[in-house]
Amino acid sequence: MAEFQQVFQSMHLASRSGPEATYSERIDRLGRLEKLLSDNVEALCKAISADFNWRSDTETKLLEILPLLRGIRHAKRHLARWMKEERRKVDLAFQPSRAWVRYEALGVVGIIAPWNYPLALAIAPLTDALAAGNRVMVKPSEQTPSFSDLLAKLISENFAADEVFVVLGDVSVAQDFARLPFDHLLFTGSTEVGRSIMRAASDNLTPVTLELGGKSPAIVYEDFSIDAAARSISFGKFINAGQTCIAPDYALVPRQGVDQFVDAVMNHVAQAYPNPASNRDYTSIISERHMVRLRNAVQEAEAAGARVVQYAGETPDRVMLYPKLVVDPPRDGLLMQEEIFGPVLPVVPYDTVDEVIAFVNSKPRPLALYLFTDSEEMQSKIIGNCKSGGVTVNGTLLHYAMENLPFGGIGPSGMGAYHGRDGFRRFSHARAVHKIGKINMFEKLGPPWGLLLRLTLRILGNIR
Ligand code: NAD
Repeated sequence: MAEFQQVFQSMHLASRSGPEATYSERIDRLGRLEKLLSDNVEALCKAISADFNWRSDTETKLLEILPLLRGIRHAKRHLARWMKEERRKVDLAFQPSRAWVRYEALGVVGIIAPWNYPLALAIAPLTDALAAGNRVMVKPSEQTPSFSDLLAKLISENFAADEVFVVLGDVSVAQDFARLPFDHLLFTGSTEVGRSIMRAASDNLTPVTLELGGKSPAIVYEDFSIDAAARSISFGKFINAGQTCIAPDYALVPRQGVDQFVDAVMNHVAQAYPNPASNRDYTSIISERHMVRLRNAVQEAEAAGARVVQYAGETPDRVMLYPKLVVDPPRDGLLMQEEIFGPVLPVVPYDTVDEVIAFVNSKPRPLALYLFTDSEEMQSKIIGNCKSGGVTVNGTLLHYAMENLPFGGIGPSGMGAYHGRDGFRRFSHARAVHKIGKINMFEKLGPPWGLLLRLTLRILGNIR
């Protein structure tokens, strides 16, 4: 048996043999997690940057460490209220009695994280699982080895092995990990791997939360400033070089505004990421495989007649891919069929809003939807007709950062959600308790069944 399988056994045993973590134990664990992050900001940025071949420290601080610290503090602030037993109303028919819900720890939670935000997507679910009183095993991605080693070291220095444990290894280890009989397994990654995770979990009847990907559209309506929408979309798209699960995947722009939109995005890019050769704010592409995939997708679209607009000063680079726009790409090509996950923005012109709705609905339900409009009517129409995991109106990405909103996908972009109270509940068992009062009316009815039963049926259900 591998070490992590033994650790799982001891966590499982501990979760079945003692009382669950108290409020103060949970606060203590969250406090240790918070300190671990705040004390190691520079080391974490350095490790992640090494894995990416270059990742801007600012992006790691702004997009990973800051939301995590906010999430941990939010959980600490609200935990007492979340843990409180919830009284439920008892219907007259069941009086006298009391009913309530206890939110109890599930036991042992498994977390499988991807490489694109390796810290945030390991620690955000860990925060919620610890708040809910669980023991947790985390399997970070094999594609971020420096970060994963550092995380394993920091966690082992700050947590007992039967509290939190980091499992290192390649995909075969991840497969064995997914086969452990966890009480809940949260996976963040691609839709394709999500399917095999669910298959593995089903053998143990392990419930899963799947945080997957997809093609998240950004829709610009004609009433909204094209420049403002372009700025916002390029912010959401080019941060982390587009390797963001909720990045706007493609933009739907009114046909007459396409040229203005393209110019505005390229102006923003030139301002945001000047001096391409030495730019330290722009992140590289994680691997050669992804670089080849992205270049091929752009070339395929160009060969099919799409207009490619790119940074004038770009020189071919092994790891950096500068922002590119592809205007009116073929709908059946790679760019419009697969999640892009890189700094390439297809711009799809449209003539009517109904066409936009039909287009979005012709694709699998996305993780995020971005909509730019000041019209309440258009907002209701588009949100009401196009389903997605979450929505940001007149901006991008920010619904993720709201601790008071559940974060998750729908259909092929995922199932289940976490963050804040929704995460606490995701990793808790909502246990129903009904305490019968001095008289149990139902047992007084019989058997033998008689007049009292017949009267009760008539009064409660009009049943003769
Ligand atoms: P991936 O699916 O290739 O890998 C994710 C994790 O799963 C890694 O840790 C990997 O080791 C592990 N893994 C791979 N094959 C496995 C298997 N057969 N069994 C068990 N585990 C396995 O994804 P990735 O390339 O690391 O990340 C990119 C994808 O993740 C994109 O599709 C992106 O949209 C998605 N994503 C989603 C979210 C979200 O919150 N919804 C966030 C970030 C990324």
